Amino acid sequence: MTERAYFEKPSVAKVGNVEIGSGKVVVISGPCSVEGRDLMMESARLVKDAGAQILRGGAYKPRTSPYTFQGFGVEGLAQLKDAGEAFNLPVVSEIMDAAHLPAFVDHKIDMLQIGARNMQNFTMLKSIAAAGIPILLKRALSGTVDEWLYSAEYCSAFGSPQVILCERGIRTYEPATRNTLDLTVLPLLREWTHLPIIVDPAHAVGVARYIRPLAAASIAAGADGLIVEAHPRPEIARSDKDQALMPNELADIVGDARVQAAVTGRSFHP
Ligand code: PEP
Ligand code: MN
Repeated sequence: MTERAYFEKPSVAKVGNVEIGSGKVVVISGPCSVEGRDLMMESARLVKDAGAQILRGGAYKPRTSPYTFQGFGVEGLAQLKDAGEAFNLPVVSEIMDAAHLPAFVDHKIDMLQIGARNMQNFTMLKSIAAAGIPILLKRALSGTVDEWLYSAEYCSAFGSPQVILCERGIRTYEPATRNTLDLTVLPLLREWTHLPIIVDPAHAVGVARYIRPLAAASIAAGADGLIVEAHPRPEIARSDKDQALMPNELADIVGDARVQAAVTGRSFHP
């Protein structure tokens, strides 16, 4: 049941040792794709140094063109987990096929990301829900709030104890930005559902230098946390390089999140 009416309090998800939705704002960051062992270690270090709490990295990538980098698959999961363990950061990675679930379980991936393109892949949602791993459910490019919440309902009805919603921008008539970040729904979601809410301003605006104000606005509007992409050398990133933050930019975003958490009567995850 995702409906707020059935719950006294908002629910809290536990990802490794990090709680999401507990009143302590969190930041998830790392490269769009896992690109190799050394780069993954460097990325984990920069995420840790910037003060973020959860490490991201895609091993299976949903790419618009079949000719671009598709991810390293299982090897990517191993590199991500090793980097997370080295810096004591829980890890999240996107799953695109239920057949890959055993690899995510074997590598102890702490949270499964359902990408925007798979929000309504109901067969996959049903199959992965039972694994009991927290699910970060991204909003589809054209997903309405109702459709998004029904997808969350699929996850919880089929066994997932913890679902976290992720607003990542929707496709509108505006081509100047990659997508339109829909913060409008945040206060409404607070009334409609007890689920924690993360905002991804990076896949919405698509350009690194525009992310900072949107990240601060997301926390100001009540989000429980952020997910943004960072890379030690954005110019060589193999996917989403235009939106990859440099280490100092990520640190600034974490600093702002800390301030906005305080302004809204919350704190920042230690
Ligand atoms: C990603 O997180 O790299 C990604 C592909 O996200 P989305 O599904 O929101 O496009
Ligand atoms: Mn990406």
